[in-house]
Amino acid sequence: MKLRKVTAASAAVLALALSATACGSDDSDDADSGSSGGGTIKVGIKYDQPGLGLKEPDGSFSGFDVDVATYVAKELGYDADKIEFVETKSADRENAIARGDVKFIAATYSINDERKEKVNFAGPYLLAHQDLLVKTDSDIAKGTDLNGKKLCSVTGSTSAQNVKADIAPDAQLKELGGYSECIAALQSGAVDAVTTDDSILAGFAAQEKYKGQFKLTGLKLSNENYGIGVKKGDTATTDKINAALTKMVSDGSWQKAVDANFGPANYKNEPAPKIGVIVS
Ligand code: GLU
Repeated sequence: MKLRKVTAASAAVLALALSATACGSDDSDDADSGSSGGGTIKVGIKYDQPGLGLKEPDGSFSGFDVDVATYVAKELGYDADKIEFVETKSADRENAIARGDVKFIAATYSINDERKEKVNFAGPYLLAHQDLLVKTDSDIAKGTDLNGKKLCSVTGSTSAQNVKADIAPDAQLKELGGYSECIAALQSGAVDAVTTDDSILAGFAAQEKYKGQFKLTGLKLSNENYGIGVKKGDTATTDKINAALTKMVSDGSWQKAVDANFGPANYKNEPAPKIGVIVS
């Protein structure tokens, strides 16, 4: 009897230890995003896009999407210290929303019909255009046939989709997990160009470590209307976010975020879009 008790107690201790270990590894996946207890909101952003969504070496977050997300969260009732940022890569966004990993996503997320079948979108809050980033001495320019060229883009992005569908179906397209990986491929000479939104490319080109190495071609290959992704059918949250975005523009916070994040990259963005109006 006594022995049995001890055994049961040990088993309980062991179970506790195991669940504590499981919790510990779960937490470290979420990195430095703070407590996941009550009163916090989980928001999906990019971690590797300077000027838009970037995790800084000190664990803080910067960029236009981060500022938009922070403003929106505040309007939903969550102060900045109640936000838990989660990385949502291009190919993971619809699933992250469907699974409920995040309440909303602000991650250079273009609104399109295919995605609208899986998620709700608030916005748009920015209009960008697909462009190419090449080495400063590259002769790729307007009018260059990109078929046969080595291009890099990201899996699950509209940029990769557009290359395959119409920009250059016969290009050698390398699809990687994030744009920072494409930039490394461009720097090493493994690819001739990186293609995605000009907003993203301008941020990389302006980084201190790449200064003078890359240039944008200035081609406007598509219209990318950035929306905030929300769970499919969650009209209440979508409406609240639309109201927040409208307020962000009217009270000057949108322009402030533009100046702070795109100014250093010398990115000349389009004026604030009207909520619900998609430029096709
Ligand atoms: N805006 C485009 C998209 O939503 C390209 C940028 C990205 O991959 O986040 O796919």
